[in-house]
Amino acid sequence: MERQDCFSPGQMRMVGVARKRAASLVSDYYRVAPREWLQMPYEVKTLRSLDSSEVTDAALAQTVCYSFKREVGLVVVKEGDLFRICLQDHRILRTAREAQLGLKTLLTYVLTHELVHVVRFGQRLQSIDLPEELRSHEERMVERTTRTILTQANSAPIF
Ligand SMILES: [Zn+2]
Repeated sequence: MERQDCFSPGQMRMVGVARKRAASLVSDYYRVAPREWLQMPYEVKTLRSLDSSEVTDAALAQTVCYSFKREVGLVVVKEGDLFRICLQDHRILRTAREAQLGLKTLLTYVLTHELVHVVRFGQRLQSIDLPEELRSHEERMVERTTRTILTQANSAPIF
């Protein structure tokens, strides 16, 4: 991984802004109460903190599901799924450059798309182990929802 492939500090701040915007758009769309949204088990990581298995050249981002178990002594105090949204800085930067898109617009689009996946996983509308033949259908559903959300929010879809 080359250093220039990763977001700069200024671009990391844009990730923060886009993340907030996407979270508010998606939680409004699915009518998730703010307190409930805070319980949503997801995190957003950028290229420099990704494991090599989480890096891909095939997408702008991917969401990976991990099971976690928190134990105190011998007692399991919490267990469940954690969704890690893995932003692919190098792909996002290249796409923004090639398509001459504002980085913030592109990040908002990417994060909205991934958060729709997270909500659907969480509500069991989408299975994490979807067979290959159903995956493209699911991808189209998520893409359609993403476009609806962004159009409603008056930021026109960008692709
Ligand atoms: Zn997707």
